[in-house]
Amino acid sequence: MSEVNYFKATEITKRSWMIEYAFTDREHVYCYLVEGRDCALLIDTMYGYGSLKAFCETLTDRPVKLVLTHFHLDHVAGNAEFGSCYMHHLDIANYLDSKLPPQEAMLAHAKEEAFPEIAGEMELSDMVPFAPVLTYPLYDGDLLDLGDRTIEVVWVGGHSAGSVAFIDKERRIAYTGDCCNGNTLLGFGNSLPVETYLQNLLHFKHYQKDFNMMYGGHQVLPPTVIDEGIELSARVIAGTDDKEEVQGFHGRTAIYAANHGASPIERADGKLFNMCYKPERILAEEKTARVIDFKPVPMF
Ligand SMILES: [Zn+2]
Repeated sequence: MSEVNYFKATEITKRSWMIEYAFTDREHVYCYLVEGRDCALLIDTMYGYGSLKAFCETLTDRPVKLVLTHFHLDHVAGNAEFGSCYMHHLDIANYLDSKLPPQEAMLAHAKEEAFPEIAGEMELSDMVPFAPVLTYPLYDGDLLDLGDRTIEVVWVGGHSAGSVAFIDKERRIAYTGDCCNGNTLLGFGNSLPVETYLQNLLHFKHYQKDFNMMYGGHQVLPPTVIDEGIELSARVIAGTDDKEEVQGFHGRTAIYAANHGASPIERADGKLFNMCYKPERILAEEKTARVIDFKPVPMF
């Protein structure tokens, strides 16, 4: 293990921290630690660069329980340090089937992103080896009891089938992962059709009165972004969205519902929400049963 300082934390409200990487200003990925009387809740584990467990122990002396907003690489790759986790049931099979890059590839990626003076000090043993851990299911409406604080689970499936938000009504914060933001990607293997996503955003809107800020996996946004998501999803379904074609992820052509401004998370009209979708995955299928085809789906 090297001496590299991988993490920094900001206390966003009492006994609630936003954790991000300290070795780079290029990886905008966040996880969160919420401390209660009996235990602390860790929401996501990012890429597995450095010991997040050791860092959490500098912030809290309570036992740390791990919950995930969804199963994608940049949210779960540090799980192995924690032994077990909780995740929405619709993402569990995809998580357990995941084939992740080896530690060597993770180290190479971390070095690419790191400040040059730090990159040379990073070691292979700093990378948490990927291994799926014992995974318990979460369901919409579950309450996570930390002793003197309760966090509610709300299903906002779309980006991944099992994407959730964790809502701290008392502190008026929602921890939202990638479920609703300026680059909501709906083109993955287990993403849901736009129509189903819209239904889930309408469900999420019932909770909008309960929080003042949405702390996501890559962005911090006001709750009004939910209204923009509902409006834009409805436009996609009606066929009246901007349909901006861009060279997307892995060189594939992607369709964004709203035209971009100067950056990939900026909209030309100044609004905050945007989504990327597949034209053949707009309307929900007639059948309601989940189809399990036993094919692994890529998590990144
Ligand atoms: Zn994701």
